Amino acid sequence: MEVRIDEDLCTGCGLCEETCPDIFKLNEEKDIAEVIKTDYDDYDEECIQEAVESCPSEAILVD
Ligand code: SF4
Repeated sequence: MEVRIDEDLCTGCGLCEETCPDIFKLNEEKDIAEVIKTDYDDYDEECIQEAVESCPSEAILVD
């Protein structure tokens, strides 16, 4: 599983960080979210899915 942020779509709303603080962090300089973890367990995968569904910009890409 690979998780990326589309920097052109992300508005920096911070919702993904609120939903999964272990996975996403807002880069305050760029004002976009970053992925801070790359090794995911079942709990992370559920959380990531929730973040994908709640991102208002559809900026979280999962392969
Ligand atoms: S929820 Fe979506 S738009 Fe908001 S910071 Fe996260 S990736 Fe960006």
